Amino acid sequence: MRGVPLLLGLTALATFPALAAPVVLEPQPRENGRLVWHTRHFQIHSEVRIGERDLQRLARVADQTAEVLKEHPLPLYAPPPGRPRIEIFGTTTSYREAGASPDSAGMYLWRRQAVVLNGRHLFVSTPGSGLRPVTQEPLVVHELVHLCMHRVQHRVPMWFAEGVAEYFACAHQGNGRFDIRNLDRAIPSHLRKRHDRGSPQVAMAPVDEIVPLSNEEWGKRIRMRPIEEVYRPYATSLLLCHYYIHGGKERNDELRAMLSAPRGEHARPDPDAAATEAALVRYWKPKGLDPLFIRE
Ligand SMILES: [Zn+2]
Repeated sequence: MRGVPLLLGLTALATFPALAAPVVLEPQPRENGRLVWHTRHFQIHSEVRIGERDLQRLARVADQTAEVLKEHPLPLYAPPPGRPRIEIFGTTTSYREAGASPDSAGMYLWRRQAVVLNGRHLFVSTPGSGLRPVTQEPLVVHELVHLCMHRVQHRVPMWFAEGVAEYFACAHQGNGRFDIRNLDRAIPSHLRKRHDRGSPQVAMAPVDEIVPLSNEEWGKRIRMRPIEEVYRPYATSLLLCHYYIHGGKERNDELRAMLSAPRGEHARPDPDAAATEAALVRYWKPKGLDPLFIRE
């Protein structure tokens, strides 16, 4: 990975968008009592009123996430047909009834073909507090990446689905701006947030333990775990995705083959675990991130 230049198509995304497009937010008639807006790529349905600034920011983050996937040289952009939905719920009860797990702030629901967000956790802006509104933007980007890849989800293993969602959440600089030049700094700081900030060591799941995991096995692996262990498979997945996306033509071709495999066929990368882990350590250690692969 060292010294490999960015692929031609990726340099175009070095900072994205080059020119910020105006926010599109068109109010629609209410549906089932919910407020509805159309953005360039999505429809937002909300049970609750949302402050204008929060709404604008959500629309911008959502549309730019779709655009960055669309412009990406890999065929990642495969949203559900029509205008995919972002649904905001006003209570944890209605959020759970939609099929989301109540302790999450947002989720992509495959069956529903939508991203659902718990409005109670989404916007940290209390009217009159004088604080700037803060949206859970990394989470929103992560879930929207899943939604924008809806039609290729069945082709990709869990490590790629989760890793690529984290990859774009890391590249997101806030308010719909992406910068993939900054990943060598953004990834270590993202991963070290959850750990002792003074130490470069970050605990991760070993490559050979997470690469073969199915959706169910992944779910089982993170369920009922102490919070500091839940993120380990995601951390490895993020580094693996970076390794494949920025790792030169051959690795890119493997991803391309996986993403465009014919229906019913799988063409998934099968990394040599020991060699890949060694390469990840070599690449990240000088950048202040020391992956520590912990076996189950
Ligand atoms: Zn996810």
